[in-house]
Amino acid sequence: MRTKLRYCYAMKKKLFLLLGLLVLLAPQCSRDDDGGGTTIDRTANLRSTGESALDFLTNSTFDRLVVELAFVPSVRPTDAAIDDLRDFLLERTQKTDISFEFLPVESSGELEETLQEIAQKENDNRTAYNNGSTLTLYIYFTDALAEGDSENTESITLGAVYRNTSMVIYQRAIRALASRTTLVSREELEAATLMHEMGHLFGLVNLDAALAETFPHNLEDPAANNHCDEEGCLMQASLEFSSSAKKVMEGRMAKGQQPIPDLGPECLRVLASMGGR
Ligand SMILES: [Zn+2]
Ligand SMILES: [Zn+2]
Repeated sequence: MRTKLRYCYAMKKKLFLLLGLLVLLAPQCSRDDDGGGTTIDRTANLRSTGESALDFLTNSTFDRLVVELAFVPSVRPTDAAIDDLRDFLLERTQKTDISFEFLPVESSGELEETLQEIAQKENDNRTAYNNGSTLTLYIYFTDALAEGDSENTESITLGAVYRNTSMVIYQRAIRALASRTTLVSREELEAATLMHEMGHLFGLVNLDAALAETFPHNLEDPAANNHCDEEGCLMQASLEFSSSAKKVMEGRMAKGQQPIPDLGPECLRVLASMGGR
């Protein structure tokens, strides 16, 4: 129960941050001159989380996906985790043309980064925006922790989504967690976080109100908004926070299972109904 309350608090805090962010982003200019006289249209990549779910899952508007991996060099993601993300995208969406681009970015030097700072950093650094039939996804691997987190706290945030095609992975939190377990590798923790956050960009669980009306998920966790209540599902809230993710993944290994949970039947049903696989 105590653990549940902690998720609940963390989710409420996140929702609050997210709402603050959306307000902040609303009046932002979405077109920039790239200096060469060409205009970059960013509008399609400045929408709310979950709004591009159908674009990820189906090929009706976009048949190509470019994933831009922005990373602070000291916390570059592992190749194994990126391979797992690629497999997850191939397995769950209709996309077959998926490529990854690496973009080194400077560390902010801060111990914590707010979602506002992360969004600003994306504005400054992101180069891949939707174009023609190419959909783009931006993933920022930061060497900072989420706002309000400390390495000494038992439960800290491993990842978050903050726009329709934007995600942040808190590598400092993942590394701190990896140092506390000999059973689960850093690669597996990175992969689990990437896949969980990707599930959110697929719209799980009931993340976009309009989509949720057409494609409702019937097993949303009453104690953790936008997470799945099905035992053993990748979209359970436990995967987003360090101590609970460790417990879930170590528990699976003790039972001889793969450490990273799959999506459960209800999440799979919703994705399939939306046109994914
Ligand atoms: Zn989550
Ligand atoms: Zn589920």
